[in-house]
Amino acid sequence: MTTCKFGGTSLADASRIRKVKAILDADSSRKVLVVSAPGKRDKDDIKVTDLLYRSLEDPSAFSVIRQRFMEMAADLRVEGFDKVLDQAFDDMIREHRPDFSASRGEYLNARLISSFLGFEYLEAADLVNITSFSCPRITVDRPCCIGGFYGRDDSGKITTFSRGGSDITGSIMARATGSQLYENFTDVSGVYEADPRIISEARPIERLTYSQVKRLAQLGAGVFHPAAILPLAGSNMPIRVCNTMRPEDPGTLIEEQGLLFNGFKAIGLASTHEKPEAFGHRDHELYAGLVFEGSMPANLSLKVKELGLEATLTNDSLLIGLSSKADLKKIYDIFF
Ligand code: ASP
Repeated sequence: MTTCKFGGTSLADASRIRKVKAILDADSSRKVLVVSAPGKRDKDDIKVTDLLYRSLEDPSAFSVIRQRFMEMAADLRVEGFDKVLDQAFDDMIREHRPDFSASRGEYLNARLISSFLGFEYLEAADLVNITSFSCPRITVDRPCCIGGFYGRDDSGKITTFSRGGSDITGSIMARATGSQLYENFTDVSGVYEADPRIISEARPIERLTYSQVKRLAQLGAGVFHPAAILPLAGSNMPIRVCNTMRPEDPGTLIEEQGLLFNGFKAIGLASTHEKPEAFGHRDHELYAGLVFEGSMPANLSLKVKELGLEATLTNDSLLIGLSSKADLKKIYDIFF
């Protein structure tokens, strides 16, 4: 059995939800579905989660959200969705908490998509513990669908993980259902060597370990939430990060243990505007985090020094302060 998580871009409108149905139909082991809230349909669009955070201050955001869901429901021929929306909006006004409001994006999308697919609806608020990142064991008799990103904390309050947290729900569900594989469907074909929006020749990384993907995510690689590895510790569960629009692409396979390897290998080059914790120099516009295996050869660290950039070497990464995106390309060219 496989747990599949689909991100917001993959579920942003009815035609994309149909594409998701085709992916599920293509493999009968894909029985556990975890969904994000509808994301951006194009670059100027606003994610439903962002609208929900705004909605307590700006009630006009409600009508934009309602219209988006009603259009999707009409297109997917899901009836009675207006009542589900009315109830969700009443609950948001009653609770009056930004995290509760934000949770309704995943809640509504899971209600909509489970009706459209004829999957059993699982309520995250009854199953997912946000404090302990866990869920009781679930026996899956028929295909089921759950909203990502939210659950209850130890005090019983409905709340969310940090942004992008549906990846964590995916891991929790993969473990709780005893799945053999966790497929994380996103809008790119895996975890890339470097941000492909900056480095156009960057390629998807074929294989990563849990600790490498966590480190890349901590250093700014945005594809997979850094905490999504936590619920899978000790499970040996393989994770495939793959592309909804190109499901046949191999994507990136993430395993708990890597193959034994001798020598030096550059794994990935993350970039972020946030100063990495171990970076021991002044503040910069942009930071690169090169994650590697083995020990770095002297000639490569010399090449970085020759660029005149400030760098801190840790045992599994090289953190570099950059003044521009062009610097990132120079680092990429040295290591890949
Ligand atoms: N919808 C939430 C967000 O935009 C959670 C997620 O997509 O994973 O962060």
